[in-house]
Amino acid sequence: MSQVGKVYLVGAGPGDPGLITLKGVKCLAEADLVLYDGLVNPLILRHTNATAERTSRVQDSTGPKLNQAQINQRLVQAGLEGKTVVRLKGGDPFIFGRGSEEAAALAAAGIPYEVVPGITAATAASEYAGISLTHRDLASAVAFVTGHEDPQKPASSLDYQELAKFPGTLVFYMGLHRIQAIAEELSKAGKSATTPVAVISRGSTAFQKTVTGTLADIATLVSEAELKAPSLIIVGECVSQRSKINWFEQLPLAGKTIGITRPEGHADNAIDRTFELGAQAVLMPTIDIQPLTDWTCVDETINRLAEYDWLIFTSVIGVDAFLKRLWETGGDARKLSQMKLACIGPATALRLEQYHLRADVVPETYRAEALADALAPHVANQRVLWACASRGRDVLPTVLREAGATFERVVVYEHHDVEEFPADVHALIAAHELDWIGLSSPSIARNVARILQQKFGSLKTLPIKFAAISPVTEQAAIEVGLPITIVAQTHTWDGIFEAILSSEQ
Ligand code: SAH
Repeated sequence: MSQVGKVYLVGAGPGDPGLITLKGVKCLAEADLVLYDGLVNPLILRHTNATAERTSRVQDSTGPKLNQAQINQRLVQAGLEGKTVVRLKGGDPFIFGRGSEEAAALAAAGIPYEVVPGITAATAASEYAGISLTHRDLASAVAFVTGHEDPQKPASSLDYQELAKFPGTLVFYMGLHRIQAIAEELSKAGKSATTPVAVISRGSTAFQKTVTGTLADIATLVSEAELKAPSLIIVGECVSQRSKINWFEQLPLAGKTIGITRPEGHADNAIDRTFELGAQAVLMPTIDIQPLTDWTCVDETINRLAEYDWLIFTSVIGVDAFLKRLWETGGDARKLSQMKLACIGPATALRLEQYHLRADVVPETYRAEALADALAPHVANQRVLWACASRGRDVLPTVLREAGATFERVVVYEHHDVEEFPADVHALIAAHELDWIGLSSPSIARNVARILQQKFGSLKTLPIKFAAISPVTEQAAIEVGLPITIVAQTHTWDGIFEAILSSEQ
C-alpha cells in the first residue's frame, strides 16, 4: 500500500484573498488536491498547482453536490492514496465550519492532519466595516451565535433571555434570512429596541455593503437594501464606531470589480493593486503561456550569442524564459557582456534589473513602434536578436531590417489564446457584477472580444467598461467592436488602474 498522505484543514479567510495565513499558502503550494467550499475566493487557488475541486452543497455548474459525509470520505480516501490534501474553508475552519467533523473523520481513519486557523468572518467583516467588537468602552465580551440552527433540533438551544443580558457584542452568523425573528426575540427578551445593529454583507470583498440601524428597524432596512448572503448581524453599542472609522468602503475603487487579463502566474502585482484600491480582482487569463517543449533553437542561439550586437526583450516572460534557459544550460550574464540590451517598457526593464542587467534602450512609450524607432538609428550593420513569444507583431523586424540590421528572432515561450474564461467569471458577467476589464495588448483585446461574443452575443450591450493599456491596444479593440472607455497614459497595468481611477472619480 502507498504511504498515507496528510490533510490540512485550512482557513481561507472570508473574502479578501489576502486574508489567508502564510501557513495556509504554504500548504496550498505543497498540495496535490484542494477541496474548497463555496465561500472561498477562487483567487486563493492561484497559490496552488493542485487539482482543485469545489465542494458544493447544491448541484450547480461548478460541480456535483457533496454532503458532509461524502466530503469526509473524499478526504479520507485521498489521504489513504498518499496525497497531500488541503481542505480549504471560508473564514476559519472550525468557526461554524464543520472542520472539526472533518478532523474527527480523519482521526478515526488514522489519516494525519493539521488544522490551520483562518480569519473568521466576524473579525474581518467587522474590522472592514469600521467596528471593533470589543472596544473597551463599549463591550467587555463578544459572542459568536448561530442565526440558523440545525432544523433537526427539537428545541432551540439559543436562550434569548440570556443573549439579551449578554454584557457585550452579539455576532450572528447565518442569520440574514431570520433577521426579523432574531431582532424580535432579542427585544422581547428585554434588549433595548434602540440597541445599534449592523448587518455586513459580503464582508472584506469589493461587494461589501453595510446597513446600520437599531433592533427596532434593522429588518426593514436590510430588506430595503436587498442585502445578500453571506452576511453577519452585529448587535451592540460597538456598531456606533463605524461612523468614525469606516475605512474600507471608502477606498477609491470600493465596490468595483476589475477583470485582470494577464496570464495566470503573472498577475500577482495587478491583483494586489486592485485590492489596495478597494476593488475586487477577477482573474480572467486570456492568454496561456507555456514553456517550450523543444529548446533546440534557443540552445543553438545561446551557443552563438557572441555573434550578436543587440538583444531585445518585449515582455517580462521573455526575459525570464531566456535568462532561465541561459542559466540552465550552464551560461550566465557574462555571455551577454558584449551585447547591448533593449526593452519595450519599464516592467521588462525592471525584470532585467532583477538579474542585475541594465537596459541600454527603453523607449518613452511602451509600444513596438516606439522601440523600433528608438533602435533604428543604432542598428545599421548590426546583428539583432529578439527573444520573443511564439506569436507577435512584425513591427520590429520590418523597421529594423529597413534600418540595415540583420534581424533574427528566437521564440522563448509559447503563447496561445485561451478558449474561454473560468465558469465563475462568466457567472459574474451574467450577474452584471464585472465593472471593468483591463486590456493589456492587442491580442488580449481581440481574444476578450471573441470570448465575450461567443458567450454573450452583442458586445455593445454588456455593462462592462474596457480600459486599454495603450492607443495600439485601443485601436485593436475598436476594430473588433470593443468599446474602449479609457486609455492608460502610462502603458503598464499601473497605468490601467490610474486610468480607471480617473474615470471613476
Ligand atoms: N467558517 C466561516 C463561517 C461559515 S458559516 C468563518 O469562520 O467565517 C457561514 C456564515 O458565515 C455566513 O452565513 C455568514 O454569516 C458568515 N460569513 C462568511 N463569510 C462572510 C463574509 N464575507 N461577510 C459576512 N459574513 C460572512
